[in-house]
Amino acid sequence: MHTFSSERGAVRAVSIASRRALWAGLGLAAASLVVGLAGQEGATGRPPQAPQPAFGDPVNIYASNAYAPAREDGEIHPSHVRGQVWLMTGEPGGSNVVVQLGDQGVLVVDTGTKAMAPKLLAEIQRLAQEHGGEHKEIRKVVNTNGRLDHIGGNETIAKAGSEITGWNDGILPGGERAAPFVSPGAEVLAHENVLRRLTAGGTDEFRGLEPTDAESFEIDNQRFNGEAVQIYHPHNANTDGQLVVLFRGSDVIAAGDVVDMNTYPIIDVKAGGTIDGELVALNKVIAMAAPGPLAEGGTVIIPGHGRACDQADVALYRNMLTIIRNTVQYYKNQGKTLQQVLDLKPSEGYDQSWGGATSGSWTTRDFITAVYETLPAKGPVFFSMKTVTSVPSGKQF
Ligand SMILES: [Zn+2]
Repeated sequence: MHTFSSERGAVRAVSIASRRALWAGLGLAAASLVVGLAGQEGATGRPPQAPQPAFGDPVNIYASNAYAPAREDGEIHPSHVRGQVWLMTGEPGGSNVVVQLGDQGVLVVDTGTKAMAPKLLAEIQRLAQEHGGEHKEIRKVVNTNGRLDHIGGNETIAKAGSEITGWNDGILPGGERAAPFVSPGAEVLAHENVLRRLTAGGTDEFRGLEPTDAESFEIDNQRFNGEAVQIYHPHNANTDGQLVVLFRGSDVIAAGDVVDMNTYPIIDVKAGGTIDGELVALNKVIAMAAPGPLAEGGTVIIPGHGRACDQADVALYRNMLTIIRNTVQYYKNQGKTLQQVLDLKPSEGYDQSWGGATSGSWTTRDFITAVYETLPAKGPVFFSMKTVTSVPSGKQF
């Protein structure tokens, strides 16, 4: 136990020392930058630039902050990611919708909120007209989980689409080709736990938002619009109904809430979420992605919320969460209560960038509570999720 704190101390000392060195270097750079800017301003009369994020801070290009234009302006903004894949931003909370276009039609991953659904539909249809292939109808919807900011538009989006349920290539007695059987409404695929939870309450609250195709699988390999689409189910990550979608040809992953570039991951404990399952899922996403040169770029990873990122971003996110998890486990092993752990601020070093929210739908307190509640009463502290798929509690993921 003493080893743990002294090692932490050592790490901190190193990190402070290197940070000082870094700041010294940055100070020099900043000084020359100021000179440069001053010269520029004098020459062009341009106003001073907006403040830039501190070194290492995540930059959310969709957030309404000084570093990016306000994107939550009540409109949906399509942007091309790569290959056949597009990203629709503008949902509340930076909730991302991913669209794949091609000759078979349109595949949509997540449908945002109910309130934004008509606007989202209009933008998807416009995108399909402008950039789609032979068929421009919405054929498939995939939900990465059952939360309302991911399934809220299901009814509106699916109703506007159509699904080919059978394609009879036979020649009819008259010599005519048989027409394909097209049913109204797009297929909505989700993990069966999503349907189970949506219908568990016995209320009409979620009517129309349910998946039409709820299945249980580890991995579902499909081919749509000429590329392999691999749908992977991580167990008990943010919820027990998470899906991660890899567009293998376009080299884009729609990771859903497993990756969240706005905040600590939303672990919905009531919906079967756990911190260890979340770490296993992050490792799966990292394993599915291929880095580009010098480990930059490569496979584009679209998180459930916030800016698009790459494998290195997700590895940093995983490392941070592993450190916080191990810290909470260390305190829990000492018999500390949830309140005592919260008072010790186990995520303090990261809160400014990734948490720090004291109000709203997902606070740092909510996150630490979810971590605490889903860890065993006693377990290894130096536990790395890098290579294993089971956790100290014996639960398999
Ligand atoms: Zn979400």
